[in-house]
Amino acid sequence: MTTILIVEDEPHLADGLRFNLEMEGYQTTIAHDGESALAAVTSGGRQYDAVILDVMLPGIDGFEVAARLRRSGDYTPILMLTARSRPEDVLRGFEAGADDYLPKPFELSILLARLNGLLRRRQWMMRELQPEQYQFSERTIDFRNLELRTHNQTIRLTQMEGELLRYLIRHEGETVSRKSILENVWGMREDTDTRAIDNFIVRLRKYIEDEPSSPSHLLTVRGVGYRFVARAQRSS
Ligand code: CA
Repeated sequence: MTTILIVEDEPHLADGLRFNLEMEGYQTTIAHDGESALAAVTSGGRQYDAVILDVMLPGIDGFEVAARLRRSGDYTPILMLTARSRPEDVLRGFEAGADDYLPKPFELSILLARLNGLLRRRQWMMRELQPEQYQFSERTIDFRNLELRTHNQTIRLTQMEGELLRYLIRHEGETVSRKSILENVWGMREDTDTRAIDNFIVRLRKYIEDEPSSPSHLLTVRGVGYRFVARAQRSS
């Protein structure tokens, strides 16, 4: 699911944004100041698909939040909200690392359109950046030829197996829900039976796990879905 971090110190604005974004099917988190926004993004917990970042915040302001994120090597798309649309503020926002900006007050429909634009561009970029090959734990997945190679064998993947692996790997370290797999890999609506996914996972585990019954890469997250980790670990 697409997750948006809302950084806004005025509670009614933050709540209004949350309400409307959730109506649009996004998952949201609110941070009320710059420090907690930075902590939320860099903690390594949840991964955000975009940040809506107000400039005027208590403590460090939005410019500084954007600048610090970029300095730390984080390139989550940022839509900056500025009360002032003076050209120098807009430029300062872009210089700090914002990807787009919107002067306050704004029309909700415009905000959603801008946000969708950012997310779309990010998706294109992710696809561009997606390597043809992926290596982990002495295995190589060749996405172009749909092959998985280990030290002693080569396994042919079906298109669907390849797509599912690609999706899980793209979200390495994140929990992906069955619903998001259905929507993003299969392109199906949520009312489809999700057990089909579990069967695929069982099959993938036979390919990528040393002990498929006790997986260390393709982990079950009970009640939610699955998580792929490149470095072996135990299911929690
Ligand atoms: Ca503010």
